[in-house]
Amino acid sequence: LFVTVEGIDGTGKSTQVRRLAAALRAEGREVVETLEPGGTALGRALRELLLHTDGPVDARAEALLYAADRAQHVARVIDPALAAGAVVLCDRYLDSSIAYQGAGRSLSADEIRGLSLWATGGRLPDLTVLLDLPVAEAGVRRARKGEAPDRLEREDGAFHERVRRAFLDLADAEPERFLVVDARQSADRIAARALDRVHALHPA
Ligand code: C5P
Repeated sequence: LFVTVEGIDGTGKSTQVRRLAAALRAEGREVVETLEPGGTALGRALRELLLHTDGPVDARAEALLYAADRAQHVARVIDPALAAGAVVLCDRYLDSSIAYQGAGRSLSADEIRGLSLWATGGRLPDLTVLLDLPVAEAGVRRARKGEAPDRLEREDGAFHERVRRAFLDLADAEPERFLVVDARQSADRIAARALDRVHALHPA
């Protein structure tokens, strides 16, 4: 079972991946927790380039680097784990590219999806949990963590609004794959809803 967790920055994705992993392991399931960008050694090098390169990065160059990260990640981590029967929980995947590199950077969503499908041999999630939060609230949460902003976090509010809207549109287009959750709910409540959906897809 391949589960991805998506949303704009500051919605609590990594917390939910951790909780879901703990809950599934407690049921005796084999779980692989991973993330993008940076789920492999090559990916960590690409992540550093993507987040901390000085100066402007061309939108197509950025899209290709994310696709390279994803290709390596699927080939080396995700596909082997799925083949071994594990539940794979991934913090961001191709929907992030459609939202950020597509809607955010104003490249075509279809082209970005096509690039990602080529990169991954067509590997798609069975379930995508979309954590949705108004941009203003997500920004506040992120700032509270006191982390230095990366390249993306210096983008303006309109960029993050386009990204949020793109995620919601993706969920509308594929309601059977997506579980959309209001990220203002407690982490416990969100985790319980995600776990219910995993159980429905993949009974213990
Ligand atoms: O989710 P995480 O904090 O690891 O993402 C790192 C940064 O990369 C974030 O600012 C996120 O918005 C950005 N990103 C992106 N396009 C992707 C995935 C992540 O712009 N496809």
